[in-house]
Amino acid sequence: MLWKDRYRCAVTLSVDFDAESLWSGTFKLSTPSPLSRGDYDIRAGLPRIHELLDRHELPATFMVPGQVAVEHPDACREIAERGRHEVGYHGFFHESVLEIPIEEERELMQRGIAQLQETFGETPRGNRSPPFALGPNTADLLEEMGFEYDSSLFGHDEPYRPRVPSVGGPPRDFVELPVSWELDDAPYFLFSFFPYMSGMAAPSQVLEIWKAEFEGSYRAGGCFLLVVHPFCIGRHPRIAMLDELIGWIKGFDDVWFAHHLDVAREWRRQQESAGTWDG
Ligand SMILES: [Zn+2]
Repeated sequence: MLWKDRYRCAVTLSVDFDAESLWSGTFKLSTPSPLSRGDYDIRAGLPRIHELLDRHELPATFMVPGQVAVEHPDACREIAERGRHEVGYHGFFHESVLEIPIEEERELMQRGIAQLQETFGETPRGNRSPPFALGPNTADLLEEMGFEYDSSLFGHDEPYRPRVPSVGGPPRDFVELPVSWELDDAPYFLFSFFPYMSGMAAPSQVLEIWKAEFEGSYRAGGCFLLVVHPFCIGRHPRIAMLDELIGWIKGFDDVWFAHHLDVAREWRRQQESAGTWDG
């Protein structure tokens, strides 16, 4: 298929803006040093990401937990004022939704949506459950609240209509923009003692992997979805590597750069017009 009737490949970038919530919500760490790794998002990571995206005039999807919107309104304003980015829901406290009751997950989701509406002036239409972990009730809640896409599952390397549960579950009324650990900066660059993650890959190695992934998507006429975290990708050699990757991809002139929501809508539009959404 051709995207927007003219592009061979879609390229879409996520910036998971977790700040302190990754360390407090996921790693359960509350002392100054781990939390300061979230502070790095604000001081160093995001300014470098904005410089890069502005220079290339690229849209991106910022996945923002409700707590981060509460605690960092100025950084959120910097995202919103550019006018070309999308904001997605990413938990309230960057909490795991694997074991919480549906009532609690619904309440957190409603609070998170309301917070993003207040901070960004925009209703999130996409979800990414932290950390790439959709809960057993999440798909029901996404349908209940009118989400248009999810981006937490691994079932393909192209957009698809998910079944949740994947065996015997119903086809869901939203598009899945699947993620992969290969196209996430965290497995390569996130160092942590708890649990131990080495995260010290050479940017040159990651560039080689990401270029090969793009070439595969391009040949297939598919979608290349990359996830980055400001504190991971923001370090000088890594942001330089991302700059090189983007410049290289821009050398292919039939590539559509779009945020996730535009990709999800375009993919669904094509399926519906071809009669394959319900098939
Ligand atoms: Zn996250």
